[in-house]
Amino acid sequence: MAGKRQIPETLFDDLGFRMTYEAKRVLYEAQTEHQHLVLFEHSFFGKILMLDGATQVTTADEFVYHEMMTHVPILAHGNAREVLIVGGGDCGIAEEVLKHNSVKRLTQVEIDASVVEFSKEHFPEFTKPVLADKRFDLIIADGMKYVAKTDRRFDVIIVDSTDPHGPGKVLFSQKFFAACRRCMTTGAVMVTQNGVPMFQPGELTSAVVKRRKLFADSYCYIAAIPTYVGGHMAMGWATDDARMRQISVKSIAERYRKAGRFPTKYWTPEVHVAAFALPRFIAESVAKATRRRIRSPAAVREV
Ligand code: SAM
Repeated sequence: MAGKRQIPETLFDDLGFRMTYEAKRVLYEAQTEHQHLVLFEHSFFGKILMLDGATQVTTADEFVYHEMMTHVPILAHGNAREVLIVGGGDCGIAEEVLKHNSVKRLTQVEIDASVVEFSKEHFPEFTKPVLADKRFDLIIADGMKYVAKTDRRFDVIIVDSTDPHGPGKVLFSQKFFAACRRCMTTGAVMVTQNGVPMFQPGELTSAVVKRRKLFADSYCYIAAIPTYVGGHMAMGWATDDARMRQISVKSIAERYRKAGRFPTKYWTPEVHVAAFALPRFIAESVAKATRRRIRSPAAVREV
């Protein structure tokens, strides 16, 4: 190990826990206007992007998160035409969204132009097809400011953000969720990056409480992403149509067939439906959080 740079994930330092990568080669490192960015090569995970000491995307396991954050809300909706991504600088989510022929326009609002710029060079598998697609509209701006002002209306909103620190903090706030609701069409659905419940229980429950104030159904679904260490990753779910997460495997499979059965490596109609079956500790914390909305507004503290 001597001589090779050890790059730690510092996200869980407060838990006295660190995961460290042995970097084969550091490809790029900079303090951008918004955050510290490092991209490096790893012998097993391939290219790894970290922002402010947190793993964002790796070549080896990106497909899990990108497919589950995209195909679940879009196929649950069933006729998504206008989609908004907040964050998503590496364009991995955008690449999955544009596989859906129902989508007529994809708006992506990313705060840090340098993340997109360097993803053009280092993640061409995402950026090339996306930037060549006429349906794609990239806006460099703060997602909070955009959803507070835009006159566009969206069937699906995907918040592929960093964690609730630095520029990503506002994307976990009540005013952000309220502004997102303002620009959603009737029957629309919103999904969010919501942390790993085992290590970040408050990140999930406080967001569920806030969304429950605005939507009839505030819930989450799960997937296991090896480099989002800590077991299950929670993806926040908010809509006024509670039936949308109770659609049968048969119906989801039919929608997938109509969408052109594009190739996937993680998502399947069965995995889609199973992702809403939460382990008891997560189900109980979500249930408690949604109940909390009724009893004590004081519980809705800003993150
Ligand atoms: N999948 C990763 C995760 O779960 O941690 C997130 C990947 S993506 C690279 C996160 C993006 O959110 C970054 O490019 C970051 O610049 C962007 N971002 C953070 N705060 C933002 C804000 N307020 N508005 C828009 N984009 C933001």
